Amino acid sequence: MAHFSGKVLALAGGVGGAKLALGLSRILSPDQLTIVVNTGDDETFHGLHVSPDLDTMLYTLAGLSNPETGWGLAGESFRVLEMLNRYGADTWFNLGDMDMATHIRRTQLLREGATLSEVTAELCLKLGVQHRIIPMSDDSVRTFIGTDQGELAMQDYFVRLRCEPTVASVSYMGAEDARPSEGFSHALEEADLVALCPSNPLLSTGPILVLPTVREELARKRSGRLRVAVSPIIGGAAVRGPAARIMTDLGHDATSLGVAKMYQDICDTFVIDEQDAKEAPAIAGLGVKPVTAPTIMNTEEDKVALARIILELGGGFQHDE
Ligand code: GDP
Ligand code: CA
Repeated sequence: MAHFSGKVLALAGGVGGAKLALGLSRILSPDQLTIVVNTGDDETFHGLHVSPDLDTMLYTLAGLSNPETGWGLAGESFRVLEMLNRYGADTWFNLGDMDMATHIRRTQLLREGATLSEVTAELCLKLGVQHRIIPMSDDSVRTFIGTDQGELAMQDYFVRLRCEPTVASVSYMGAEDARPSEGFSHALEEADLVALCPSNPLLSTGPILVLPTVREELARKRSGRLRVAVSPIIGGAAVRGPAARIMTDLGHDATSLGVAKMYQDICDTFVIDEQDAKEAPAIAGLGVKPVTAPTIMNTEEDKVALARIILELGGGFQHDE
């Protein structure tokens, strides 16, 4: 058996981030791993505070997520939504019946004065998730997308309009005045390895990195700390979702190299898929060490294998027979 000794901070959005986070959680003990999650996608629906990326992470680590979609709960039904629809409420955002309980409980605890970090810890506790899942901030940050159809809230663009509008800008409302959550700041200080998960660089890691002090702190080269990112782009396309199209719309190259350029100041090692091996020299040219690996995570074995590769890069693996 090999044991990794050291502290890991993973930065993640929803589905792509949760795949790698699950792999890391299978190898690392709860005190070794902190998963910081984007809350720029949060939105109020039917009076309830919904945190889509936190929920994806929570359900994934709790073993409750829907394997087909990667988000939502397995065996979910949508009867509450059907009834809301009869009442004429907007029901384009898919909220399952069991999922609804998460949002009700979150909203209730927030109203009682708990922070989003405290609420998330409580939900984790009750669902048996031992690894720390922490919102990037307890302050409100909202991602807005400037498009050919006007300025849209993130879920409006993502779910209601199915990412169809052409994107002209992405902004993170409230980010300038938001502080990283306490748990995030603490993990940032402690981490021996920072992993930027294969998440959407504009919609998922973007809001995390724009929080005051975060990018500056990650940009500092610190001895004994390795910063590793995994490309969400493979073969010039996103595995799923609009990442490639948004990158193109905003003038980035929708390639692993394009993502590496966005992270070059905050990452030492950039993991790209085997299919993109030809991009390695150009990534090396940015002063970032390219590592080629299988990065498509379909099965749990895939997720653990990629997590292991990342931890091996970080050193600190002790092999004992
Ligand atoms: P979201 O908040 O649910 O959109 O999730 P993320 O931002 O965390 O993840 C979305 C990104 O994950 C997309 O850009 C996908 O290309 C990427 N992604 C999804 N699955 C995989 C995978 O198995 N491997 C890699 N390398 N990227 C993936
Ligand atoms: Ca998301």
